[in-house]
Amino acid sequence: MMIDRPAPHPELAGSRITVDLGALVGNWRSLQSRGGQAEAGAVVKANAYGCGIEPVVKALSEAGCRTFFVAVGDEGLRVKAVAPEARCFILNGLFRQAAPVLADAGLAPTLGSLDEARWWAAEAERRGSPLPCAIHLDTGMERLGFDASGLRNLVQTNGLMQHLNVQLFMTHFACADDVGHEKTALQMGRFTQASALLPNVPLSCANSAAILQLANLEGVMMRPGIAMYGGEALNDVENPMQPVVTLEGRVCQIRSAKAGEAVGYGASETLTRDTRLAYVSVGYADGYLRGASNAGVPMRFVTGGAQAAFAGRKINGVGRISMDLAAFDITDLPEGTVTLGDWIELFGPTIAVDDVARAAGTIGYELLTGLSRRAHRVYLPVQG
Ligand SMILES: *Cc1c(COP(=O)(O)O)cnc(C)c1O
Repeated sequence: MMIDRPAPHPELAGSRITVDLGALVGNWRSLQSRGGQAEAGAVVKANAYGCGIEPVVKALSEAGCRTFFVAVGDEGLRVKAVAPEARCFILNGLFRQAAPVLADAGLAPTLGSLDEARWWAAEAERRGSPLPCAIHLDTGMERLGFDASGLRNLVQTNGLMQHLNVQLFMTHFACADDVGHEKTALQMGRFTQASALLPNVPLSCANSAAILQLANLEGVMMRPGIAMYGGEALNDVENPMQPVVTLEGRVCQIRSAKAGEAVGYGASETLTRDTRLAYVSVGYADGYLRGASNAGVPMRFVTGGAQAAFAGRKINGVGRISMDLAAFDITDLPEGTVTLGDWIELFGPTIAVDDVARAAGTIGYELLTGLSRRAHRVYLPVQG
């Protein structure tokens, strides 16, 4: 049962999200090529990082992607509805009550504890054949997965492994975004060592950051997320990926305000010159974070708020972003260039999503996954 409201009428929407599926597939292929013979899966959790599970899975399947990763079972059902033949792993593991549902749907949980392994094995035994799964090893994040002794326990528990069709042995890096961080090598060493307990099971350890910085991924199933969606995976390194997501706001008010007047809630920004303001019909309720306001955000680490762009020219935000509105300074654009109903780019080809995220004191992941359903969505198809 779908209880979501239908998508807004394109002519009525104040915000528009454009997802360039061609760029997405291009990014996935470029990540795939970095792994040599390694298989590239795709992480499509959190509604494919806000991009929409269905169109993203369809585009990637058509490009040859055969393995998907989601956080929770419900996302897995959506993957299977679009790509019934694809493998889909549930990263957050197995709830006991979920076992029959996942098994019926052909979904594979990532098991990270003995309890989960027992529940999945019991389900397999009831059905009379081993069920697919991944085994997750925690190598230093203290998050999900067996520790090394737990893994030994698992493989030595009588009558368990024969019911598990273990398709992947995986771990996840805590600090791969920091190039050359010693923790990544430490985790890799623990992972390689423990893998001897599961001979012949394919390995999977690389998120986007690891794919971009590690050379020796031969034979390792890759799990790219953010880089595929055009976001920054590595800190302090120029982002090599093509932008995928564009967020635009539609101009709903243009006004001239005098120097000395203050703009918006909290009167947080007083104008230092006569200013032409363009308001877009987008605010924090659309996921355009209030923390990216130009003023009145005392807890931010960086100075200044997010910029936007009109016809490729950058413009500054003014005052606080409110629930449904944000103001930009268009004084320096020739009069009449911006008119009511025009679209202003909040991020996309001119303004990097990560720059807006930084202005809000967060990361591109949070900005993308928080975009709301109020936007009209446009999908640019893969060419050719
Ligand atoms: C989210 C996630 C990924 C993808 O990470 P990115 O940084 O977005 O590439 C890979 N593996 C696991 C276990 C994850 O939770």
